[in-house]
Amino acid sequence: MLLVGAGPASLACAYRLARLLEAAGEKREITVIEKSTEVGQHILSGAVMDPRGLDDLFEGRWREEGCPVEAPVQSEAVYYLTPRGKIRFPFVPPTLRNHGGWVVTLSHVVRWLEEKVTALGVNVFAGFPGSEVLFDGERVRGVRTADMGLGRDGTPKESFQPGTDVVAKVTVFGEGSRGSLTKALVQKLGIQGPNPDIYGTGIKELWEVPEGRIAPGEVYHTAGWPLASDHYGGGWIYGMPGNRASIGFVPALDYRDPRFDPWHSAEVWKTHPWIRSILDGGKVIKAGAKTVPEGGFWSQPRLHGDGFLIVGDAGSFLNAPRLKGIHTAVKSGMLAAETIAAALAAGRTDAETLSDYGRRYRESWVWEELHRVRNIRQVFQGNFFTGMVRAGLLLATGGRLIADRIPVKADPAHMESRPAETEQESHPPFRADGSYTFDKVTGVHYAGALHEENQPSHLIVHDLDICRTRCTVEYGNPCQHFCPAAVYEILEDPVRPPPAAGVPAKTLRINHSNCVHCKTCDIMDPYGIITWTVPSDAGGPKYSGM
Ligand code: SF4
Repeated sequence: MLLVGAGPASLACAYRLARLLEAAGEKREITVIEKSTEVGQHILSGAVMDPRGLDDLFEGRWREEGCPVEAPVQSEAVYYLTPRGKIRFPFVPPTLRNHGGWVVTLSHVVRWLEEKVTALGVNVFAGFPGSEVLFDGERVRGVRTADMGLGRDGTPKESFQPGTDVVAKVTVFGEGSRGSLTKALVQKLGIQGPNPDIYGTGIKELWEVPEGRIAPGEVYHTAGWPLASDHYGGGWIYGMPGNRASIGFVPALDYRDPRFDPWHSAEVWKTHPWIRSILDGGKVIKAGAKTVPEGGFWSQPRLHGDGFLIVGDAGSFLNAPRLKGIHTAVKSGMLAAETIAAALAAGRTDAETLSDYGRRYRESWVWEELHRVRNIRQVFQGNFFTGMVRAGLLLATGGRLIADRIPVKADPAHMESRPAETEQESHPPFRADGSYTFDKVTGVHYAGALHEENQPSHLIVHDLDICRTRCTVEYGNPCQHFCPAAVYEILEDPVRPPPAAGVPAKTLRINHSNCVHCKTCDIMDPYGIITWTVPSDAGGPKYSGM
């Protein structure tokens, strides 16, 4: 059995499968491959965890089994921010209630899960990025890992090690948000859900704050400023022990202005007087960015097929209105494990046998939870206040208004062509002060992101001419704005002629070493010419402790 990605969904799947096989007296090889050099390094989440998934996985004993947690949720509030003030919601909306939840550091939780699965004999190979799905017709037979030790031009260096074909009866894709192999699999087999995937880009910072500012287990969420009223998204502040605070901001990617910048919007959000009153005088410890799959139920691809299953964020199991995906990821992994165990017992791992995953999902509490909120994210593709009213109606009616499914457009389809010199309308101009607010390169430093320079770029731009001509003229090169890590740099080109009258010639420099693996570029480039692939050095951010 092969599991791709060592996140909560894959590790829960490995744990459940190992336990089921152990109970059946069967011995099978279970292998997890992970693209970071240590499990947890590429894991980034808020996070307030609903313990329901771990309750199921460990039969209510996950605390006794040693799962690391920061604090139980003690109090919570939701605020609508205006530029200088805040309005407290009179009650916490049902989808945002966190009573019974736990503030956790997800990278710690997955490290603990790794210990649990290795104790059961599961092989976890960190530092082995999966670069290609191996097919036999439409049957998935495994994954090829990336070639290591290639020079910038793709030629082998002395350290060269060719990738390995890891074949398995069943391959489970648990790569997380916008997984590169899952994307290729879904495209090849044409198994996309009825709605396209839609995303937000979450920017997170971990702060040490002066004593007394926020208690462990204090949980705040914000809506409103600095986003425009038609822009979905918001922020969080979670109190942690040791005078630490997890803070973050997640703007949705279905915005119109090509100059909108998720990183800058998060830094501007931090300048709000109330947020300053919590953080000021403290210091940032770490920072990072990651996309969040917000499409949910209607964006889920077919989750099973000949020789494969899809779990967790890769299968859009996140409940966006609740801002929660750990419990659903864990449960999806468990359901996948139960499907595989039954398939192995039957001696068949074909598409029909593995479709039992769909039945198990349909009969589980995850389906019920995601189905109930299946249209909520969509009604916020417009004004925030009408979205709130319609979301309330959806909760009262069990999830539908007139149609059972509210359609959405893919995120980049919302981006409007703007002449290069148009003023940005998204939020006020921003300049980092270097101590409280940071520029993107400083953010890369706090993410610990690093890739070897002398290797092929893992960011493939398929047609650079489009960048230099049409994109410059039509959108003003939005990659320089939407990437939170300053990977895409647009420079004046002294050699080429201007692409249009009054528009200077530009060229693109790709600083691939900065990449924090958020995948925003793979989603948001308006021409679909950027493909994010795994780097051959297993580099990237270092989010342990985030
Ligand atoms: Fe994210 Fe792409 Fe920038 Fe990497 S290059 S940090 S994946 S937007």
